[in-house]
Amino acid sequence: MLRVHCKEIGFTCSFVAVGKTEEAIMWTMIEHLSRDHSVKLEDMTPQIREKIRSSIHVPEI
Ligand SMILES: [Zn+2]
Repeated sequence: MLRVHCKEIGFTCSFVAVGKTEEAIMWTMIEHLSRDHSVKLEDMTPQIREKIRSSIHVPEI
């Protein structure tokens, strides 16, 4: 499973998004940001998406 820690995106938060694919984890994070950090969908800039993408931890097999 892939993981993204919310604090690595710049929030003081212990939320960790877990997902099977990059796309799934992106949506989990976007939902979390809008619900818990009041980030609106229109504020999800390419920069934020890129930050999420670069914070994804790929587990070693
Ligand atoms: Zn968070």
